[in-house]
Amino acid sequence: MELDFLAGLQRTHRCGELRAAHAGKTVTLMGWVNRRRDLGGLIFIDLRDRTGQTQIMFDTDNAAVHEKAADLRSEFVIAVTGTVKLRDEKTRNKNLPTGDIELIATELRLLNKSELPPFLPSEQNANVNEETRLKYRYIDLRRSDMQANLELRHKVAIAIRKNLNDQGFLEIETPYLTRSTPEGARDYLVPSRVHAGEFYALPQSPQIFKQILMISGFDRYFQIVRCFRDEDLRADRQPEFTQIDLEMCFPTEDAVFSVVEGFLKASWETAGFEFSAPFPRMSYDDAIRNYGIDKPDLRLPAMTDVADAFTAEIKQTLGIEPGLPIVAIRIPNVGELSRKERDEHKTLLQPRQAQNIKFFDDFKRLEKSWPELVTKVRELVKPSEGDLTVIVAGHQSTADAEPRRLRRMHTEVYQGAGLLRLAFAQKYAARHKAFERGNWKFLWVTDFPMFEWDEQDARWNAAHHPFTSPHEEDMSKLGGGLAAARDVNSALGEMRSRAYDVVLNGMELGSGSIRIHQQPIQSKIFEALGMDDEEQKRRFGFFLEALRYGTPPHGGIALGLDRIVMLLAGAPSLREVIPFPKTAAATDLMTDAPTPVTDAQLKELSIGIKKS
Ligand code: ASP
Repeated sequence: MELDFLAGLQRTHRCGELRAAHAGKTVTLMGWVNRRRDLGGLIFIDLRDRTGQTQIMFDTDNAAVHEKAADLRSEFVIAVTGTVKLRDEKTRNKNLPTGDIELIATELRLLNKSELPPFLPSEQNANVNEETRLKYRYIDLRRSDMQANLELRHKVAIAIRKNLNDQGFLEIETPYLTRSTPEGARDYLVPSRVHAGEFYALPQSPQIFKQILMISGFDRYFQIVRCFRDEDLRADRQPEFTQIDLEMCFPTEDAVFSVVEGFLKASWETAGFEFSAPFPRMSYDDAIRNYGIDKPDLRLPAMTDVADAFTAEIKQTLGIEPGLPIVAIRIPNVGELSRKERDEHKTLLQPRQAQNIKFFDDFKRLEKSWPELVTKVRELVKPSEGDLTVIVAGHQSTADAEPRRLRRMHTEVYQGAGLLRLAFAQKYAARHKAFERGNWKFLWVTDFPMFEWDEQDARWNAAHHPFTSPHEEDMSKLGGGLAAARDVNSALGEMRSRAYDVVLNGMELGSGSIRIHQQPIQSKIFEALGMDDEEQKRRFGFFLEALRYGTPPHGGIALGLDRIVMLLAGAPSLREVIPFPKTAAATDLMTDAPTPVTDAQLKELSIGIKKS
């Protein structure tokens, strides 16, 4: 079979374009053979491109073309010229936008053949494993759902750009070859050839550059930008991912929130969804107390504090630690539970959680011994008929109640209850139906702690990143110098930051903060993180210097574009909305990256590989 060249032939339409109104016209389409049916006298081809499919008919009236069509196979690339014909009423396909017509071919050019692919783009639901999909990504991306996902991604990005442009933001690029940006992950390093033994780091975020753009007076910056973090990958992470990154001068938290709500609304509308704004706000402390997590899922009721309903004696009998919170979880519309379901509840607690907390899901049993307790709990929780109420409390322990440990156990009860709440919610999702698509519950979480204690290294870490401003009222707690940096009991643990997260349905969509704009405060924060003057100068000298030259108050945020598109597409993983993603082992199965390099390349970079 000879291949043809295009020889100047141009397509007149795309494969998804032709309608009844085109009947009688002579047109030329080009694309891939999606499916072929050979009925002897008649050959039908579904011709596919990004826009859709058109049925092409080859009949024996045109013997040469018909004969050529007999050799066509799936994924061959062809150009067809022919006449658009209205189909008979009976043979119209209502499910296809082009289903009213077909093209009667008068000329066929075979532009390219295809080997039989390992799976066919036309088989939407074929059970292809993901490794094969990623290895043959070029075939996989031909599938209509991948095409739709990437088209949606494009449209969402355009909507965001347009919205931010309308809000006065400039898109400005920042370098990829740079130095380390402290976002708490490992850097990807790039060796410098010119400066032997020195390395660039790929940015974990454009954080420092966007702050410098504020110092430079750009007022409102944004960028849809790739960020790189070398972390152990979980299902919803990628080593390189895309952020919608922005920064603005002279903002209050309100100003940042309204900018974000604006471009999110534009993105959601692009995908045909709506939500109401402004989003509710909640402090970190309230989030932990009411939801046991810093990214509350508001689609289900908050937890209720029911400690008041318990007498000391009941606590004692039930093995509940007296000084700790007791909370009730309510999951609506669960209805009667089977014996089996109740047994399965026991497996919802992870073994580590089970050391700290216990739960009670059988109200009838509690009621038999303590009717007043159950009445009081019901008054507080106000369950409706059919709601499942579960009480969560701290395990009685003999450990001494050292204040820091008690505080930690407090949080552990809330967090344990929060995880159980989500586990129950997942288990009964089919009954409460709150998790159905289109139920968008956004939230701003504010007032995060400034520092987190790192047990392993026995030091304080920045809970967000070190450029986040502490609350103005908490500044006095910064004075402890380098000694405080290693002191678990220092006042650093009580400092609140002006960081905020935007949360959707229990997922963190983005984080940001109002920044430090005064150099001495920035220095003190670095100090609280254990950096002496020397180290500050070495790592951040250029930035500390920049802060001295008229830095305006500024703040910003970054949101994950991949995750937003995943949610809007209803896709099960980030890999479905990233054209060329990496596996959980950070490899690219199509190109086989990472790969070894030649000795000559290594030599040029003055790098030797240690062979173990
Ligand atoms: N650079 C931060 C991050 O990537 C976001 C921000 O604070 O604007 O999480």
